[in-house]
Amino acid sequence: MARTEELGTNEPAQGANLPISPEDGKADLHTHTTYSDGALSPQELVQKAAAAGISVLAVTDHDHVGAIDEATAAGRELGITVVPGAELSVSLAGKDLHILAYFIDPTNRRFLDYLAFFRGERLRRAERIVQKLNTLNIPLKLDTVLEYAGIGAVGRPHIASALMEEGHVGSFHEAFDRFIGIGGPAYETKFQLQPEEAFRLVTASGGLSFLAHPGRYLSEQELLELIKMGLDGIEVTHPSHSDQQRAYYRSIVHQYFLLESGGSDFHGGRKHDDELFGQVTIPLHVVETMRSRLFSQ
Ligand code: AMP
Ligand code: ZN
Ligand code: FE
Ligand code: FE
Repeated sequence: MARTEELGTNEPAQGANLPISPEDGKADLHTHTTYSDGALSPQELVQKAAAAGISVLAVTDHDHVGAIDEATAAGRELGITVVPGAELSVSLAGKDLHILAYFIDPTNRRFLDYLAFFRGERLRRAERIVQKLNTLNIPLKLDTVLEYAGIGAVGRPHIASALMEEGHVGSFHEAFDRFIGIGGPAYETKFQLQPEEAFRLVTASGGLSFLAHPGRYLSEQELLELIKMGLDGIEVTHPSHSDQQRAYYRSIVHQYFLLESGGSDFHGGRKHDDELFGQVTIPLHVVETMRSRLFSQ
């Protein structure tokens, strides 16, 4: 478990003094901005969160913490507490899993270096995907993909958008189904980070590691392996989870003394995302529990 002393600074970690009010409100701990594959800038996201009645917002871009400063400043204006976060990818038994890191120090040099490395790997993977598409007679250019990525860590959603806008597929989902989804003819894996390495990195950066949307891909055996490796918590509430899945993951959380998290996985500009925003949330006391595990030791 990370403690502020381990950050190598006498300053409390960002988030240690978050003004979370004890009365219950709504927290959304899984959101994306233009720093990865989200459609909104950090400021726009925070404004939207305010309008949706969210009072604690974790910004969790894929392999990027570039949005945190702007989001935090916007949050200060609008009375929203921004939890610094990121979504990392790790590999377990050949499966690509997502790990949400919360309360990391977004200025931690080692963390920033890792993120820069992962983004470089994402770029090389995008190049390989484009090459595969070209051999399939899809004349997509890497530059077009990079225009869609803009300042963000480049990912398959940018490739899907480029394929759609260039008229190679009829929809965003068709791009995944026909070409770039797992097992598709233009699929390429990401750089394979081991879960233990990710957990160590997050801990050394002052944060907590949560398994994102486990309902999508994990057996109980694999989940137990991750818990043994040092996972801190599970994203129990996610739009892809059924009521039964939420109950099941909550029972695992209780059984293994883990922490619980939840959020909308908002990207913006995608079907249902806008209507759902503000509805897939967790109560603030859940965030308070997380924070006390980190900062009260
Ligand atoms: P990447 O990190 O580049 O592998 O992209 C992963 C992201 O692509 C996920 O976070 C989802 O937002 C999106 N994605 C993955 N699979 C699909 C799919 N089958 N249909 C639509 N979006 C998907
Ligand atoms: Zn995403
Ligand atoms: Fe994810
Ligand atoms: Fe996500």
